[in-house]
Amino acid sequence: MDFQPVLDDIVSTLKPELGAGKVASYIPALARVSSHQLGIALRTREGAEYCAGDATTLFSIQSVSKVFSLTLAMRNLGEVLWQRIGREPSGNPFNSLVQLEAEHGVPRNPFINAGAIAVADRLVSTCGDGRAEILALLSSLCGEAVAFDEEVAASEAETGFRNIALANFMKGFGNIDNDVAPVLDLYFHQCSVAMNCVQLARAIGYLCNDGAHPLDGSALVSDRQARRINSLMLTCGTYDAAGEFAFRIGLPCKSGVGGGIVAVLPDTLSLCVWSPGLDETGNSLLGMKALEMFVARTGLSVF
Ligand code: GLU
Repeated sequence: MDFQPVLDDIVSTLKPELGAGKVASYIPALARVSSHQLGIALRTREGAEYCAGDATTLFSIQSVSKVFSLTLAMRNLGEVLWQRIGREPSGNPFNSLVQLEAEHGVPRNPFINAGAIAVADRLVSTCGDGRAEILALLSSLCGEAVAFDEEVAASEAETGFRNIALANFMKGFGNIDNDVAPVLDLYFHQCSVAMNCVQLARAIGYLCNDGAHPLDGSALVSDRQARRINSLMLTCGTYDAAGEFAFRIGLPCKSGVGGGIVAVLPDTLSLCVWSPGLDETGNSLLGMKALEMFVARTGLSVF
């Protein structure tokens, strides 16, 4: 199937709405990004790539990084990882402390902040250099060198009071093994990675290819692990709107407050959309619309 006309049509149809939504404003580097941008990229399982709009503009991947850190931790730890982290949607804000108290410091899932911080702790324990391993993984998956945005990482650290609280809280329950400082340093850096839609659509390709590396075909994770990551994305990947995403789009997705959303159609293709304006759930407003249009126009979804 030639996806180019579909992507071009999505971008031109949404053009009049550019600027809708609210750009994340908790740090200056995100607040100054123009909301008048929309990019979309798609990669088939066989490696054909298509893109439209601002698909090669770098943006802050933020919580999209949680898929890749989880992937590394699942590779390093296997089943043992799940002794520390649950697999249920939280039904609470992504940075909530309340549920963590009631559940004795065990985060509901790896995609809320507490869960991703617990994953970062596992990476600090199992990687020689967690920061380097994240960058190496992402660069290898997209075949291009990717980097941290050190300004974003520093601002995350300066303003990340809730994340600092979550890490200390979990440590109080014995669910963080390392000092909180290196754990948070890794978490803040993974959030700060800058990538574009083309790179992310390629990088997430292992989730539509039974866990095989999109470029060299080696086993990044097992088929079973890839299925599990996809199911976590479907049920927990888009903050408190996972039900709405499943209802309107029906693809495993992971979003971030930088406005990026990756999406996977298992065995078929992977996608990344980006538009910085967010809706009230913290998901990219036009990104969600673009995915909804993609599914409506192609009839492709897991359901
Ligand atoms: N750096 C953000 C935080 O931890 C990530 C937000 C997000 O994309 O969900 O608060």
